Amino acid sequence: MSAHTDQDPDVLITSPDPMHPANHISELCRKFYDLGWVTGTGGGVSIRKEDLVYLAPSGVQKEMMQPEDMFVMDWKTKEYLRRPLNYKPSACTPLFLAAYTHRGAGCCIHTHSQWAVLVTLICESSPDWATRTCFSIKEIEQIKGISRGGSGSDEIAEGGRKLGNLGFFDTLRIPIIENTAHEEDLTGALEQAMLAWPECAAVLVRRHGVYVWGKDVGQAKTQAESLDYLFQLAVRMHGMGLKWT
Ligand SMILES: [Zn+2]
Repeated sequence: MSAHTDQDPDVLITSPDPMHPANHISELCRKFYDLGWVTGTGGGVSIRKEDLVYLAPSGVQKEMMQPEDMFVMDWKTKEYLRRPLNYKPSACTPLFLAAYTHRGAGCCIHTHSQWAVLVTLICESSPDWATRTCFSIKEIEQIKGISRGGSGSDEIAEGGRKLGNLGFFDTLRIPIIENTAHEEDLTGALEQAMLAWPECAAVLVRRHGVYVWGKDVGQAKTQAESLDYLFQLAVRMHGMGLKWT
């Protein structure tokens, strides 16, 4: 039995600390709404703190999100410890859990940013299969915002070398999976992409958006912002007839 089950569930979402996951997710939803990343209740944010997973609910206006709206799941049993009765869990939940399971992530961000969608459309028009199924870019300074190991810049590679972040001359690669009618049906393809691309920090979903993760909220947010910058730049370069690779 979980150590949390005999608690008042509201204890899990009540804290004066702005960095508490319930407060932090609400704040991030407002920030991401202002960026156009989570318009029309799409997209989402989840944080895993030790053995608790915090998830924003489905169908709530992101700029109105409150700590009391949060679902809280026991990471080990995958059972909800707190479940607001007036809301449904987010359809993104199995995709966020995939980032925690396969990447040891501490936070996962899903955006419907138009720049992410546009980049997948430009890649879709390529006659080359590799370009259709993977966005890659190099020699742009903002690439340095992305971890070499996908999550956790202090991860240790074989041989004991610290992985760190990508450098200016490295190539950033983000796999693209095809969209499905229902968000949760993306889970299998997302997991396959995470396993096939062990260094990727994110997965693009064609005509839909992007899933980005990190070892903690700071890294996930840095990577989401860096990637959105790079997607926007790539779209603008394409419009100017410039190649981004
Ligand atoms: Zn979505």
